[in-house]
Amino acid sequence: MIPYGRQDIQQSDIDAVIEVLNSNFLTQGPKVTEFEKAVAHYCHTKYGVAVNSATSALHIACMALDLGTSDWLWTTPITFVASANCALYCNAQVDFVDIDPITYNISIAALEAKLEQAQIDNQLPKIVIPVHLAGQSCDMQKIYELSQRYGFKIIEDASHAIGGSYQNKKIGSCQYSDITVFSFHPVKIITTGEGGMAMTNDPKIAAKFMLLRSHGITRDKSLINHDNEPWYYEQHELGYNYRMTDIAAALGASQLTRLDEYVAQRHAIAHRYNEALADLPLTLPYQADVSHSSYHLYIIRLNLQEIELSRLEVFNQLRDAGISVNVHYIPVHTQPYYKDNFGFQKGDFVNSEKYYAEAISLPMYPTLKDSEQDYIIEQIKRILD
Ligand SMILES: *Cc1c(COP(=O)(O)O)cnc(C)c1O
Repeated sequence: MIPYGRQDIQQSDIDAVIEVLNSNFLTQGPKVTEFEKAVAHYCHTKYGVAVNSATSALHIACMALDLGTSDWLWTTPITFVASANCALYCNAQVDFVDIDPITYNISIAALEAKLEQAQIDNQLPKIVIPVHLAGQSCDMQKIYELSQRYGFKIIEDASHAIGGSYQNKKIGSCQYSDITVFSFHPVKIITTGEGGMAMTNDPKIAAKFMLLRSHGITRDKSLINHDNEPWYYEQHELGYNYRMTDIAAALGASQLTRLDEYVAQRHAIAHRYNEALADLPLTLPYQADVSHSSYHLYIIRLNLQEIELSRLEVFNQLRDAGISVNVHYIPVHTQPYYKDNFGFQKGDFVNSEKYYAEAISLPMYPTLKDSEQDYIIEQIKRILD
């Protein structure tokens, strides 16, 4: 089977991990600090705080922005469930904003309309989480302008998007947000096995992240009152064990050196798909001028009126041909947990649901061979013609 995404592990990655295994630190130690500094340097952000997943990063991001009971968090339905679940971890309430039918990112028009209504209802969100679907940035400047008008905070879920940019600045720079979150799961752009990072330019938020990822405990002598007791630590918050290991960080730091190469390879693959699939009854991924995507995913939409097969049939035929396509994502509001507990229904976000009914993610990863891609293209043509 050709997978839809996969990691690239080279000898230098293996060597970096072995070096840590032979060192004194296995869990959070010098490699974590090195990796954090390298990502912050890459993105031109002041702080990066590494944790054991993007899900954990989203959770402590919400906590650092004081999300709590009776607060609202809004995100898009076309995302992984973690972008919404983080609000529920904080006992806050979740709502969704429909997608833009062209970019599949959160719709600015829908966001603006919903904010207007929420102001009337006195239910404005405390946090909005735009998700950079497939690696293409949301229109962050517009979202930032709305945040100034309506007073909400912004966490960018950039789980797909490290290595991408917006207005010629790297995603993660937090130019138009309070916090940006990356994922280093193996299908993402670079990997640490499991892992994530929360980026910010605010020293208070960064300090909060460091407390929250390790039980809320500090050993910082300037923050505690026991000068003459060298063993002393204090718990100041209810935190978690969300630490990244030095083993994972060494892998991440090694992978980061190839990030730009990976993004360039992904663009070359996208370019070949664009050329080869142009005349088929498909909608190919739209790319906005202000954004340079990391191309985590290559999503096609089937023009179902022109195709005799259903999405399921196209999907199954590709799978039968040994091509492990995927679908990103089942709209979060249609998940049983969200329907049963919060009353969301099918029909609530029509553009998201229409997109979902037509979308297929084709294999996209740097080591996909030309011959494999040619085979994928040939099979799509065979199935759709
Ligand atoms: C992968 C992903 C996450 C979760 O990342 P983990 O590192 O697996 O916790 C969150 N949001 C989006 C959009 C993702 O794709």
